[in-house]
Amino acid sequence: MWGDGLAHLTIDRNRCNRCGLCLAACPFDALKMEKEIIVGDDCRLCRICIKECPQGAIAIRGRLEDRGNRSLYQGVMVVAEEFAGTIHPVTYELIGKGSQLAAASGQEVGCLLMGHNLRSQAEELLTYGLDWVYLCDHPALAHFRIEPYTACLAAAVDRAKPSTVLVGATPIGRSLAPRAAVRLRTGLTADCTMLEVRPDGELVQIRPAFGGNIMAQIVTRHHRPQMATVRYRVMDPAKAGPSRGRVIPLRLTETQLASSIQVLEVLPKAQEESITDAKVIIAGGRGLKRKQDMDLLRALAHSLGGQIASTRPLVEMGWVEHNRQIGLSGRTVRPQLLIACGISGAVQFAAGISSCETIIAINKDRRAPIFDVAHYGFVGDLYEIIPRLLTHLGKGGRINAL
Ligand SMILES: Cc1cc2nc3c(=O)[nH]c(=O)nc-3n(C[C@H](O)[C@H](O)[C@H](O)COP(=O)(O)OP(=O)(O)OC[C@H]3O[C@@H](n4cnc5c(N)ncnc54)[C@H](O)[C@@H]3O)c2cc1C
Repeated sequence: MWGDGLAHLTIDRNRCNRCGLCLAACPFDALKMEKEIIVGDDCRLCRICIKECPQGAIAIRGRLEDRGNRSLYQGVMVVAEEFAGTIHPVTYELIGKGSQLAAASGQEVGCLLMGHNLRSQAEELLTYGLDWVYLCDHPALAHFRIEPYTACLAAAVDRAKPSTVLVGATPIGRSLAPRAAVRLRTGLTADCTMLEVRPDGELVQIRPAFGGNIMAQIVTRHHRPQMATVRYRVMDPAKAGPSRGRVIPLRLTETQLASSIQVLEVLPKAQEESITDAKVIIAGGRGLKRKQDMDLLRALAHSLGGQIASTRPLVEMGWVEHNRQIGLSGRTVRPQLLIACGISGAVQFAAGISSCETIIAINKDRRAPIFDVAHYGFVGDLYEIIPRLLTHLGKGGRINAL
C-alpha cells in the first residue's frame, strides 16, 4: 500500500512470540498469521497493535514525515472523473484551474484517470495542456468502487508526488476524496468555490463558511498533498489545443484492486432536467404570493427556452423541487441568462449565481442586495413586469429591447 520508503508497519521476528493479540486488536483485519505475522494492505498505521503487543515487537518504520516535507511535492494532479467512457465536464474545469495554479509556480499539471479501456480518453485529456496523465486501466476499475479507487489515488500520489490534488465535488468525488485524504494522512477542504496559490506554493482553499456569511480561506500548512474538492460549474474549463504531455501507465497489485463491492447491474437513471446545465434560468423567490404564480415564471422560462429555479424558502414550502434550489445549500448555476424574480439576494443565494454571465433582477425594493450582483435591474412589481415581458416576447421582441 505505501510506496517505497513511506511509513509502514514492521514486526520484529526475534521478539514476536505469535501470541495473536495484535490480530485480535486490529480494527482493519490487516494482520494475518502465517509462518510469521504478515501485514496486509489494509493496515492504516493506527498503532493499536503496537500498544497491544506485550513483546514490543511492532513498530512503524519509514518516512512518515514525508508528507510534511513540502519540497518533495510539486505540481497539480487533477482526478479525472469518467462514466461509461465519457469524461465528466468538471474534469475540464479542474484542469483549467489546475493549469493556472501550476503555471503560477512554474510547475507541472497532470491528471489521474482510472477505469477500463480508457486509452483514447487519456490521449484526449492530454490535449488540454497537461504534462502527464497517469492512466490506471483495469477491468476491476470499470465501475466506481471505493476501495480500489482510493488505493489507486493513493498510489498515484505516492508516484507523482503532487503538491495539490483537485477532485470534483460530485457524488463520486465527495466519496473518494475524504477516504483518500485519510489514507494519505493529509487535509481536505470540501466544496471549494475559489482556489488561489501563494508564491511559496501554498494553496488557499476558499469556500463559504458559517452559513455563507464569510468566505473561509483554508491552507494545509504541514502536510502534502493539499487536497480540495471543487464545485462543478464554478471554474472556467480548459480549452483543447496541441498535445505535449505523455500517458504514464499505473499498475496496481491484486490486493489494491480487491473490493468487497460487487456491481451486479448498472441501471440508467431517467434523464432529468438539471438547472446546472441550463443556459437560461428564471428563478423565483418569496416575492411570489402563491404557488400557482410559479406558472408566470414557467411561461417566461418557456418563451426563453429556459428552466425554472428558486430560492430555498420556496423549496421549503414545497412549491419547487429541491433539485431546483440555487445557492449554498442548493446548486451552483452558470447560465448565460438568469432572471431573479422577487428574490432579495441573500448571501446564501448569491453564492450560487456568482458565475452567471448575465443577471437581471426584478424586485420592488430598490435597496435589495440582489441589485448589487445583478447586471440589469427592474425596480418594480414582478406581477406587472413579467406579463409585460411575456407580451413583448410573444411579439418576437427581445428582453433588452424593453
Ligand atoms: C445555512 C443556510 C443556508 C442557506 N442556503 C440557501 C440556499 O442555498 N439558497 C437560498 O436561496 N437560500 C438559502 N438560505 C436562506 C437565505 O438566507 C434567505 O433566507 C433566502 O435566500 C431568501 O429567499 P428569498 O430571496 O426568496 O426571500 P426574501 O429574502 O424574503 O426576499 C423576497 C424579496 O422579494 C421582493 N418582493 C416582494 N414582493 C415583490 C413583488 N411583488 N415584486 C418584486 N419583488 C418583490 C422583496 O422586496 C424581497 O427582496 C440559507 C440560509 C442558511 C442559514
